[in-house]
Amino acid sequence: MGYQTLLVERRGAVEWITMNRPEVRNAQNTALILELDQAMRAADADPDAHVIVLAGAGKDFSAGHDLKAYVGEAAADEWHQMRSTPEGKFEHERTLYFEKCLAIRDLSKPTIAMVQGHCVAAGLMLAAMCDLIVAAEDATFQNPVLRMTGAGVELLVEPVELGFRKAKEFLFTGDAIDATEAWRLGLVNRVVPRDRLKEETAALAEKIARMPPLTVSNVKRSINHAQDLAGFRNALEYHFLMHQFQHNTKASLDALDERRGKASMKEVFEERDRDF
Ligand code: ZN
Repeated sequence: MGYQTLLVERRGAVEWITMNRPEVRNAQNTALILELDQAMRAADADPDAHVIVLAGAGKDFSAGHDLKAYVGEAAADEWHQMRSTPEGKFEHERTLYFEKCLAIRDLSKPTIAMVQGHCVAAGLMLAAMCDLIVAAEDATFQNPVLRMTGAGVELLVEPVELGFRKAKEFLFTGDAIDATEAWRLGLVNRVVPRDRLKEETAALAEKIARMPPLTVSNVKRSINHAQDLAGFRNALEYHFLMHQFQHNTKASLDALDERRGKASMKEVFEERDRDF
């Protein structure tokens, strides 16, 4: 299977799926999201793949959604047109962001996110869909979308991942946390030196791959079920609606208009982070 935005490699019983847009810090565009969905489903359906590792090529795991379509000439393209009404935006984010992301969480096989460098906004949302996270010492986690008027991203993972009080601080300030803090809060399972990241992730994946596959799948289902009963999925549904409402407020629409006039995302991000 040839992918444009991914590298997919089978090593033993471990499927390695690597987002391969390092020139844009693995920003997730539509092609990447659709290919990731396809690659994940293929691995999940293959009885020879026992564990799936999700990685990002280059210095960073993922900078989040690719927002290039919001600025300059790209803002007039088809993708933007689709999002130009509340209905269009809802449909776009529901099918592409909300459902595709949760589908990763619902895979039957165990998944491990291998995170280095920046893991931002929808990058964090994506990593959080994996069962385990191994982080390099240089990994940082951040969700600064409130600075841009966004009510988080489409799936609000922070309350569960960081605890309620820390989630508020993390989102209200948009400040980054480092790998050690992420480990202390329980967001990541392990922190390892950057130059051992691949090795340590592989060792963990291979250990899990030696377990009886159906048993691991059943235990994963059971733990996810417990999390759903604790309100996880319901809370995600509520947040998605809140997130959509926020997108259509005057403050957010004005900010979007202003962003369209910018020359590049660099300019958008510089302005976003100017006062922080
Ligand atoms: Zn959104």
